[in-house]
Amino acid sequence: MKAEIIAVGTELLLGQVVNTNATFLAKELAGLGIEVYHQSVVGDNGGRLLEQLKIAEKRSDLLVLCGGLGPTKDDLTKQVVAKHVGQTLVQDEVGYTQLMTYFSQRPQPMAENNLLQVLRFKEGVALQNPTGLAVGIFYTDPSTKVSYLLLPGPPSELKAMFYQEAMPLLMQQFLLDEQLYSRVLRFYGIGESQLVTELSDLIENQTNPTIAPYAKPNEVTLRLTVKTADESTGQQQLLLLEQQILARVGQYFYGYGEENSLAKVVVDLLKEKKKTVTGVESLTAGAFQATLGSISGVSQVFPGGFVTYSVATKEGFLGMPATIIEQFGTISRECVEAMATYGRRKAQTDYAVAFTGVAGPETVEGQVVGTVFIAVASEKGVISAQYHFPRDRQAIRQRAVMAGLDLLRQELLK
Ligand code: ATP
Repeated sequence: MKAEIIAVGTELLLGQVVNTNATFLAKELAGLGIEVYHQSVVGDNGGRLLEQLKIAEKRSDLLVLCGGLGPTKDDLTKQVVAKHVGQTLVQDEVGYTQLMTYFSQRPQPMAENNLLQVLRFKEGVALQNPTGLAVGIFYTDPSTKVSYLLLPGPPSELKAMFYQEAMPLLMQQFLLDEQLYSRVLRFYGIGESQLVTELSDLIENQTNPTIAPYAKPNEVTLRLTVKTADESTGQQQLLLLEQQILARVGQYFYGYGEENSLAKVVVDLLKEKKKTVTGVESLTAGAFQATLGSISGVSQVFPGGFVTYSVATKEGFLGMPATIIEQFGTISRECVEAMATYGRRKAQTDYAVAFTGVAGPETVEGQVVGTVFIAVASEKGVISAQYHFPRDRQAIRQRAVMAGLDLLRQELLK
């Protein structure tokens, strides 16, 4: 099964929009065991789209097109493909009802061209749009056996339609009795290249299950996928592979799942252990607390915290003695440990995570840019660590937040 992605849109050719749909589709199709051999971008031009279709059909079994399903004149993907495969376009009744409901709730009348969005091929399957109006298409040409999947351009619509409508259809059409089962392992504190090196023999010899590494901001994930007709055998194979991987790099592993994060794992651990935390932030200026705040239900474990950027606020908000900063400076292990200890006392929480450091661009108190101190205070006392993060100001602050979360996670697991 060879697939090919064709993104349609002049804005992509002009570099005004990054082709994130292709990245998403390539990854998801690979996860389904469908190999993507080619990707291309075509402007909103019927002639050139047709040219591309003719090339693609010669080498691929499935053409996945995205973009150009909207109501305007330049949205012509459906029309070009329909004419090419000899399908007439008819109104899709489910899409039409959804369109009417949408406009009946709006003050402005519906423009006639909106009806173009709810056209479907006379044969084949119409894919409903859970977050927008344009109807997608799945059609297999009976003479050539080439399949066409037409998806909308806006990434939120494309993703929703792919997961809810297209994916089950592709699995049913192309995987026959076999299903794919996968699990995602998440790692912090190890780079993608080091992780791949540690697992090089496993990755090189992979067939079924497969191992796919992805570098994400400040972390790496591994997606393990197995294709099998029997779920329990598949899960057993995945478990075995996971055990082999964790035997080598288990110290960096922190959780499972595509939608997971280090912050979520920390919040879940705090909830499980019925503990609370506060943040005491200089360098990160609230970014640690904002990250906690992005996790739903965090109010159970996070009553509030401090942003203490200046010496005055460190002393005033936290009640830290002036002598600590006078003696050791603000960019020091002693300062960050005192911030955590006094912050915890003030907020009356079980844990406090404190941050100080130099985000740049200038050296501070003789400490170079990227120097970061993080401390975690608890009833057991206070622990701290020093880091040297490279790169720019925002990257240093983001990496500090991740390091703080990881330090807290390790304390919670002790
Ligand atoms: P609409 O109803 O919004 O017109 P459409 O299906 O016709 O939807 P396009 O008009 O091609 O889609 O694209 C709409 C918007 O979606 C673009 O302006 C762009 O912001 C985004 N978009 C389109 N294609 C891609 C892509 N390949 N990757 C990322 N974003 C994209």
